[in-house]
Order: sequence, then structure tokens, then C-alpha cells
Amino acid sequence: MSDANQGDTRVRELGHFIDGQRVDGVSGRFGDVFDPVQGRVAARVPFANAADVAVAVAAAKAAFPAWSETAPLKRARLLFRFKQLLDEHQDELAELVARDHGKLFSDAKGEVLRGIEVVEFACGIPNLLKTDFTDQIGGDIDSWNLRQPLGVAAGVTPFNFPMMVPCWMFVMAAACGNTFVLKPSERTPSPSIRLAELFIEAGVPKGVFNVVHGNKDAVDALIEHPDVAAISVVASTPTAEYIYGEGAKRGKRVQALGSAKNHAIVMPDANLDQTIDALIGSAYGSAGERCMATSVVVAVGRTGDEVVERLIPRVRSLRIGGSLEPDLDMGPLVTAAHRAKVFGYIDAGVAAGARLVVDGRGHTVSGHEEGFFLGGSLFDNVKPEMSIYREEIFGPVLSVVRVPDLASAIALVNAHELGNCVSLFTTDGGSARVFSRQIRVGMVGINVAAPAPSAWHSFGGWKRSLFGDHHQYGQEAVRFFTRYKSVMQRWPDSIAKGAEFTMPVAGA
Ligand code: NAD
Repeated sequence: MSDANQGDTRVRELGHFIDGQRVDGVSGRFGDVFDPVQGRVAARVPFANAADVAVAVAAAKAAFPAWSETAPLKRARLLFRFKQLLDEHQDELAELVARDHGKLFSDAKGEVLRGIEVVEFACGIPNLLKTDFTDQIGGDIDSWNLRQPLGVAAGVTPFNFPMMVPCWMFVMAAACGNTFVLKPSERTPSPSIRLAELFIEAGVPKGVFNVVHGNKDAVDALIEHPDVAAISVVASTPTAEYIYGEGAKRGKRVQALGSAKNHAIVMPDANLDQTIDALIGSAYGSAGERCMATSVVVAVGRTGDEVVERLIPRVRSLRIGGSLEPDLDMGPLVTAAHRAKVFGYIDAGVAAGARLVVDGRGHTVSGHEEGFFLGGSLFDNVKPEMSIYREEIFGPVLSVVRVPDLASAIALVNAHELGNCVSLFTTDGGSARVFSRQIRVGMVGINVAAPAPSAWHSFGGWKRSLFGDHHQYGQEAVRFFTRYKSVMQRWPDSIAKGAEFTMPVAGA
């Protein structure tokens, strides 16, 4: 790893990755990728138009027949090799993530490991694709089902997990026999190119995994392309809802994960030492730019004052600096525009009457004065009608809402339009059971903040945090990336009855 976020002022030129090689594209449009620590342009990325997307989809389409006919065990062996390469390149990938995004190198390493876990799960694809068989469903008739790949699948990914979220998609899609075109975030495009290079190095045929960069134009071209059978999306809710609607309208299969507003309910009986540690890490890790970040503390009964008193010094003492520097708690936000948006929410919270007990707006980092830094911020007395409560902020801003009891806390969370994840902090098993059964949220933690399921479970929210039927990775991904087929057979020796005009029934 390079030792610091400074010194290098070159602007890297990035390319698409299509049919096994780097391609410049024909659109002539480019976007800037920032170094958020230095606040300067670090790379230029091409923005694909419909012609560029068509080249990538054609490469994926051409690769599909051979790849889909490759035995699952052979695909698994290539994935084992890919996993080995990811292990060998962990630090390099984490540095690419940290440089584009601004998250700490240690945090980026965690992201890389979560991506590798999906590859480890996908290595079991021969077993995951096994299906059911019924011998003798009727007179000399057997019945079974198949799960067959869809064809060309596409992925649209957000800026905040530029290694892990692409792995949720292309790894599972390819394991199931599909070929793939990824449109990564234009703000953090570098890791996906390296992933595509390593996939080829592992021996996966060219064209199985392609990367096109860009913004809405590239996404629209994927939605409109008739050879794209399925789209997997992780984005903000407006983007997810748009792609889901437009894709579904064209008969495509779409899974679209959206925004989050994650509550942590703190009961009076909670172990506050552990709870405060969990809240600080979850709310301010990665500068709050995680879809699993806690953004609202719901303090039940008399806990409110103590929770706020304990949070204040912890938020004030957050160690903030360059993403490649050691012993820090968080880095900068991803772009100046995103920081301005988070600033806007803090201003709106103050104007609406919430009590800003820690104000991170003036924070600067010595040596990185142009960087996109923001200090940790904490609001008390937040009310459900305020925009800082209703909307996703996606920055290092935590709100405290006070409620009288668990029933009010559950009702508050259930009334929110987003439902990605939620946590309850308590030492009472009865409260935990009621909570986990009644809460209308997709991922639930009991004394666990940010309860992101492991690779062999599945990941996704409820309500307007997910459009479509399937969650990401795990067995849900096998269902999403395959089509179910039922087969029934009998052989000529047993076809002796002649024509039958009554409804066939099992066991006859
Ligand atoms: P974003 O919606 O701005 O962009 C996500 C992707 O969609 C990018 O690739 C972008 O190019 C594309 N896109 C943006 N606007 C588009 C449009 N109008 N039409 C078509 N495509 C468009 O999101 P972001 O800021 O990159 O990422 C952060 C968001 O993602 C947050 O809302 C966060 O909660 C969410 N997220 C959700 C999960 C989850 O699992 N639910 C995980 C990570 C991030």
C-alpha cells in the first residue's frame, strides 16, 4: 500500500472492459473521479453511450452459449482460482476502494473480504444448482425440475461498496451460467476494472464479465437493450424504483435494492457500554456512507438523556483523516457535491428545531484542507416530521428520537417508508422476540448494529428499500439468476394406453 494520500497528482485514464480487454469507447464523453482526501480530480472515466453498451452486450451474448453449457463444477473451479487471486490482491483492491471512495484502508479491507465471501459461497454452485426429482409420479412417469441461466444479465451498482456489491452480482450470475455487463458507479469505478482483469486471469472466458462505465445514459441503454434479460440494481430508492419500473415494463427480471434509514432502538435495560460502542461504529464508520449505517437512535423511556450524554464525547473525539493513514475512525465523504448535500440536511435539521449537540460542519483536516471532510454530527430531539428523520442523509449524522415504550418504537419504525435494517438493544429476551416478529424491516439485529447477513444467507430490505422479489446473494441469488423449468418424462415401453382425455393426476 502507498503510505499516504498525497504526492501523486497524475490523472489516471480509465477504460471500459469488454470481451477481455480494455476499451476506450466511442461516446467521447467522460466524467471525473475524485481523490476525496485531496479534493482533486484523480482519474477520468469514459461515459458509455448506447453504442458502447451494445458492444458490451454483444460480447456477453456471444460468450453465453459456451459458458452456460460449461459444467457447474468447471465454473466452480474457475471461481476457486478467482478467489485465490482475490486473496493475493486483497491490499491492492482495498487501496483502489479507499482511493476512489475515501473510506479507511482497514474498512476497505473488510469490504474486500465480504466480496470474497460471496465468491467462496459461489464455489459451491454444483450443489446450489441441484434440484428435485420425483420417481414414478404417475404410471412410469418421472418428474424433475431444472434451474437454467437467463442469458445476459446486467448490474448497476452504487458508489459506497465498489468491490463488494459488484461481487454480489457478477459472481453469482456467472456461477449460475449467465454472462454479465456491469455498470459500476461513475464516482468509484476503479475496483470493478481490476475485478474484471482478475476474472480473466483466473481463466474465465472473455465476454463472461464486462464493465461499461457511465451514468444514466448507460443504464438506460442497458434497460432498453433487448438482449439484456435481467438487471440487478443497488442504488438510492429513486434510481432503484426507476430501473425496476422501466426494466419490468420491458419484460426483464429486476431486483432493485434502494435507500435506507436504519433505526436502533435502545431499551432502558440495554447494556449501554456495549450499545454506545455499537452505535458509534455503525453510525460513523465509513463516514455514514453505508446502507446498513445506523442513522436514528430511538431512545425508549428514561434512556434518552444518558444515551445522548454518552454519545457526545465519543462523536467529538472521532479521529478523522486521510483514508490511507493509520489509527483513524473515518475518512472524508465521497465528493464535494455529496458533502454539500449532507451539510444541507444539517442546516435543515437546525432550521426545523432539532438540537444539534455536536456540529461537524467546521471540521478540517490538517494537510488535507481541500478534502471533502465533515466532522461527526449529532442531533437530539428529532421529530418524525423533520426531513433529517424522513430522508436518508448518507453521512456522519446521527439523530436521536425519544419514545415512551417499545410499542411506540416499533410503530415509529414500521411507519417509515424505508425498511433496510433495524436493531434493538436490550437484555430482555421477551422484548427481543416481540420486536423481531413485529418489525416490518428486512434485516434485523438484536444487540447487533448493521446486521448484514453473511454470504450464505441473503441481503435485502423491505418496503421502499427493495423493488422486486429477490434479495441479493445467497440462495436468493441462485433463484434470481436462474429460470425454473419442470420436466416430466416417460419412455415408449410404457406408452401403451393410447389417448387420454381426462385430467392427468399424480399416482394414476
Ligand atoms: P445512486 O442512485 O446515485 O447511483 C447508483 C447507480 O445508479 C450508479 O451506478 C448510477 O450511475 C446509477 N444512476 C444514478 N441515477 C440514475 C438514473 N436517474 N437513472 C439510471 N441510473 C442512475 O446511488 P449512490 O449515491 O451511488 O449510492 C448510494 C445509495 O445506494 C444510497 O441511497 C444507499 O442507501 C444505496 N445503497 C443501498 C444498498 C442496499 O443494499 N439497499 C447498498 C448500498 C447502497
